[in-house]
Amino acid sequence: MQGQFFEAKNRLSMRYALRFACIWMSALGAVVAAAGLFTAETALAALSLLLIPLAVLTQALLRSQHWQAATLLFCWGNWALATATIGGSGGMAAMAFPVWLVIAVWLLGTTQALCMLGLSALALLLFWTTGYLDAAAHNPGLAALLYALGSLGLAAAITLMARLSLSHRAQKSLDMLALLEESQQELRKFHRAVEQSPESIVITDTALNVIYVNDAFLARTGYAREEVLGQPTELVSTMGMDRSHRRRALEQLASGAVWRGEMSNRTRSGEALRESVLVAPIRSSQGQVVNYVELKHDLSERVLADRRIHDLVYLDPLTGLPNRHSLVLHLRELATGAQSACHGLLLLDVDRFSVFRDAHGMQHSDELVRAVGMRLVEALPDNVWIARLAGAEFAMLFENLEPHGQAAEQRLRQQAQALKLALQKPLHLRGRLETESVSCCMGAALLEPGAGGADQQEVLRFASVALHEAKQNGPGSVMLFEPRMAEEVHKRMRIARDLRSGIPLGELRLYLQTQATARGVCVGAEVLVRWQHPQWGLLSPVEFIEVAEESELILDLGGWVLRQACLLLAQPVFAERGLRLSVNVSAIQFGHEGFMPALQAVLRDTGANPHLLTLELTEGVLLRDWDEARTRILALRELGIEIALDDFGTGYSSMYSLKQLPIQELKIDRGFVSGSHGSATDAALVEAMLLLARRLHLRVVAEGVELPVQAERLQQWNPDIVMQGLLLGEPLPQQQWLAEVLGAPDSLQQP
Ligand code: C2E
Ligand code: CA
Ligand code: CA
Repeated sequence: MQGQFFEAKNRLSMRYALRFACIWMSALGAVVAAAGLFTAETALAALSLLLIPLAVLTQALLRSQHWQAATLLFCWGNWALATATIGGSGGMAAMAFPVWLVIAVWLLGTTQALCMLGLSALALLLFWTTGYLDAAAHNPGLAALLYALGSLGLAAAITLMARLSLSHRAQKSLDMLALLEESQQELRKFHRAVEQSPESIVITDTALNVIYVNDAFLARTGYAREEVLGQPTELVSTMGMDRSHRRRALEQLASGAVWRGEMSNRTRSGEALRESVLVAPIRSSQGQVVNYVELKHDLSERVLADRRIHDLVYLDPLTGLPNRHSLVLHLRELATGAQSACHGLLLLDVDRFSVFRDAHGMQHSDELVRAVGMRLVEALPDNVWIARLAGAEFAMLFENLEPHGQAAEQRLRQQAQALKLALQKPLHLRGRLETESVSCCMGAALLEPGAGGADQQEVLRFASVALHEAKQNGPGSVMLFEPRMAEEVHKRMRIARDLRSGIPLGELRLYLQTQATARGVCVGAEVLVRWQHPQWGLLSPVEFIEVAEESELILDLGGWVLRQACLLLAQPVFAERGLRLSVNVSAIQFGHEGFMPALQAVLRDTGANPHLLTLELTEGVLLRDWDEARTRILALRELGIEIALDDFGTGYSSMYSLKQLPIQELKIDRGFVSGSHGSATDAALVEAMLLLARRLHLRVVAEGVELPVQAERLQQWNPDIVMQGLLLGEPLPQQQWLAEVLGAPDSLQQP
């Protein structure tokens, strides 16, 4: 251990004490030397004189800040001189030993002081055995005086040092107090930081019982402080860590490392709490672990954000079911796995959903989709994977149905039947009192174990082809994919492509079909389009109108027909004979914003008389947007154009709409006309329609009159009826019609 001096070596007070001692010793040396010379004690005088250079040297070392060397020299040098003087002083100088020992304890520390004690004892033993002490001084009186003086000075130095050391201790206590205050201030700062931290902080003892939690912990978990203090952390804080994890974490902590990890903890009410946790040991100044601190960062927000992103990507927001993207991924997964039995993919689409949406609005149709989704989930076994694809279209994947295709097909059909029945039961829509029940079309495709990867990925396309085919078949149809369906899809794509190039190339043809009274007087014609396909020959509109309606092609096609019809109508023969032309207008064409301006431009360009033009609309036009349709029809009436309701009786015509709209003509569908002479029901229906038309003062055109008996009947019911059909003539190319029906000279026929 170091002596006081070294501990406080840079303390001015201690240095002054040592300097005082040095001056005192040199003064003593001088006095003793003078007295020695006076009493002829030359040896004593010489030795005493040595005290002076010793003191000077010590002073020099002190000045050059070699504290340790100065102290060592001072203590040991004086001790050595005292020892050497023992003989001359008659042993009296030995009495200086205790003084030097005390000084040594003060200045050099206990180890060196003990060393000095041992050496002093050895010297005394040596002097005593060698008889050195017996050769006592000649002048013991002087020796006693000098010893007294020396001790006095040294005692003064010791007292001074003791005083100074005392004040040093007081200083030290003050310093300690200041330090304590400082560290307390520091502690308060840390405490406040911990208290206010937005992260949960928990401190446990080494037995992992909670001894401290901050406010953030309480706020996040919902515990009260008294509920957690003293509780094991695994019950209230780190419950998400299982036993083996905890053991490993403790091992890691014991090795002095910090443990980090993520875990799912729980709040007081049992809610999940995803947290990233850091546990660190707290050590005492001796290096022992005395506590553990847990710093916990709440990941719930991140987890929520992750989940939200996941939901956006993979789930349909309306029904909460997986979306198309999920289905595609799932199918891809299936395609890569081993397959031992057939999987079946069933697509379901609610019939006439767009009609429902137009009639009831977005909100109710969303509710309908949601209700259908829920009903499907209820009706399906748990292992069936269900997704919403679009609109009211759902996909259901039946995995491992049956090992063999035929049995799987059978099962799929049964499932489809069960779903159909489930959807027929009333559906309750939120925000609506009335219940709904829906019918649906379904298309299915099988994934057989032997099928290649390509086929597996195509299954969705196959099923949607089958669904498309089912929809063509009418409401409630279910179709299983057959390879020929794919061919049809290809054909439709080809039609769309060829039509796109064919219209500008002039491949469309205008045909006319006569409309005449019961007495055979021609009153006009219906304009019917044909397509002269370069490879397939002349095509009926039945083969391409629907494809055209799936894209904007119908606008080009309809525009062409309208222009050709007006060019024809502009010929004087029509005005002269008061003949009318009826042009079919598709619902899409009619609903398009450019329809009215285009029509007006055509009338202006061709000079056709709008009063001779009839536009044939189907009820689909009215269903799309009733108000808009009514406005448009009124605008057409302003121009003088007449409106015919085509295919009357097949759609959803309400008497109300007939009454509300300025319609001039009803076209009774071919289906009723052809049955009117055989089926009593059809006959009754046609009669009723004719009655209705008479009440509403509408002209009636009966389509598809093929037999004289049909014509007779119709004439009986309504003598003013206009007829159109094979009986009166098939549709003819426009020039041929003009020549044959009107007998117009060739010069007039070419528009
Ligand atoms: P639609 O408007 O009902 O036209 C009547 C259809 O019945 C015509 O078929 C006509 O050829 C056929 N038809 C006439 N009399 C008889 C008959 O006595 N017996 C039988 N079995 N059929 C008869 P087409 O020309 O094939 O037209 C089919 C449908 O294509 C039309 O039905 C119409 O909806 C649509 N369409 C035709 N031309 C156009 C057009 O220029 N624009 C639009 N948007 N659609 C058109
Ligand atoms: Ca028509
Ligand atoms: Ca028709």
